[in-house]
Amino acid sequence: MTETGTDIQAGYTPYKSRILVVDDEARIRDACKIVLENCGYDVCLAVNGVDGLQRIREEHYDIILLDLMMPELSGFDVLAQLKSLHPDTVVIVITGYATLEHSVDAMKKGAFDFIPKPFTPEHLRVTVAKAIEYTNALRDIADTRSRMRTMINRLSDGVMCTNHDHRVVLANPTFLRMIGCPAASVKGRDIHAFINNTVLLDMIHQSLETPESEFTELTQEITINGGGPSEEAVLSFRCSPFRDRSGRNIGVITVIHDITALKQMDRMKSEFVSTVSHEIRSPMNSVLMQLQVVLDGLAGDVTEKQREILTRASVKIENLAKMASELLDLARIESGLISQEREKVDMLGIIRELAAFHLPGAISKSVEVVLDIPESLPPVLANRRNMEEVLSNLITNAIKYSPDGGRITISASSGTEYLTILVQDTGMGISAEDRERIFQRFYRIKNDKTRYITGTGLGLAIVKSILEAHGGRIEVESAPGEGSTFFVFLPLLTGA
Ligand code: ADP
Repeated sequence: MTETGTDIQAGYTPYKSRILVVDDEARIRDACKIVLENCGYDVCLAVNGVDGLQRIREEHYDIILLDLMMPELSGFDVLAQLKSLHPDTVVIVITGYATLEHSVDAMKKGAFDFIPKPFTPEHLRVTVAKAIEYTNALRDIADTRSRMRTMINRLSDGVMCTNHDHRVVLANPTFLRMIGCPAASVKGRDIHAFINNTVLLDMIHQSLETPESEFTELTQEITINGGGPSEEAVLSFRCSPFRDRSGRNIGVITVIHDITALKQMDRMKSEFVSTVSHEIRSPMNSVLMQLQVVLDGLAGDVTEKQREILTRASVKIENLAKMASELLDLARIESGLISQEREKVDMLGIIRELAAFHLPGAISKSVEVVLDIPESLPPVLANRRNMEEVLSNLITNAIKYSPDGGRITISASSGTEYLTILVQDTGMGISAEDRERIFQRFYRIKNDKTRYITGTGLGLAIVKSILEAHGGRIEVESAPGEGSTFFVFLPLLTGA
């Protein structure tokens, strides 16, 4: 069964609005009771002002029908006291012909509407229905506010809403705890009075200034050091502007999510991968060496069949060893270990060396390697081994994924901010869908052309991680059957 609104509400007793009629005329009281009970309301009667006030003190009513002209305590007195007891109760004043001025007066004092005597049942029904609609709207607003307040206060994320003046409209307890603010409430306060994190303040300012035409959420990870290393917390801050009906920014919602545990898990996962890769690399290399000993005939004669089997086993183990090495590299790069040792690197030298190094591999596939590089290029601040790894991966791929007789062109140039290196091939190309995914770990394109090409699917993930760790990036342009061009962007050493 599907959950329709009716199903969800099955068994729920609808709210019956409560009405009190305060009038000293029994005829009017009884008439009101009959008409309103027929409409489904819960109706109570009070015989005069004193009786009415007594009942109002004891119970809550949604609507009060109040006669103005009563002996002892007039309707005006009841109205005045009622406004201080239950300001949200809606009052409809019942008046005689001659007292229209009084009813206007009563409206000024907070009555919602008035019914002049004598009135018809229809007039009473319509006026009360209008008032009920109003009280329902008020109740809905109050319910929504209460629901929102409870929800926001119970959230495990920190939430703050600020207005166009940077004053707090709402901030939940989690938010205050996360930013280390000891106050129980900061409602109405200027954010500069209790937030001292300049990154967060800048984000809120910037967010409020976002042009109307754009919707941008600003995000930032901030590490907050609480004193000792164990108290370090990594918080993810998100700021988005909110707008009024004409589209103007009228405030900012800031959400803080504690990602300390996620970061720790990520670090542990990287450490685990790096330990496992390290541990399995040595035994695999030793197995490879022993297979080689057998293949070389040093352990006795080897038949052709045995040689074939052992060679196949060697290739598989070599691939595994390569994957272990690449996983180790990736774990090191992601933990920021390798790229910390940086120096001024001449990329032209590296391009020439690697082109020469990979030339035999290219020649064996009749692939031509063309260098289209300038005489000189400004240096970049980088880790030399990482840069060699980037180019080596791109050149190896260009050769691997090119058919016999292809051509690889490596070019380089320098712009104002970046040094750009292009590795272009005339190979099998990459579809748009695959272009999105080839930089993910272990992603390999599977089709008839790639079936017999071995690899781990880690090379481009390593290239991407290295370049990002250096403040650079990698891009690719390609189409199936039309070759591929990989663009490497490295930030230039400023002042060089
Ligand atoms: P691997 O080459 O070990 O499979 P990579 O991460 O280096 O892993 O590359 C991921 C995938 O991207 C490859 O499997 C290949 O399908 C595709 N690819 C990479 N470089 C090229 C290229 N120059 N031309 C065509 N496809 C490529």
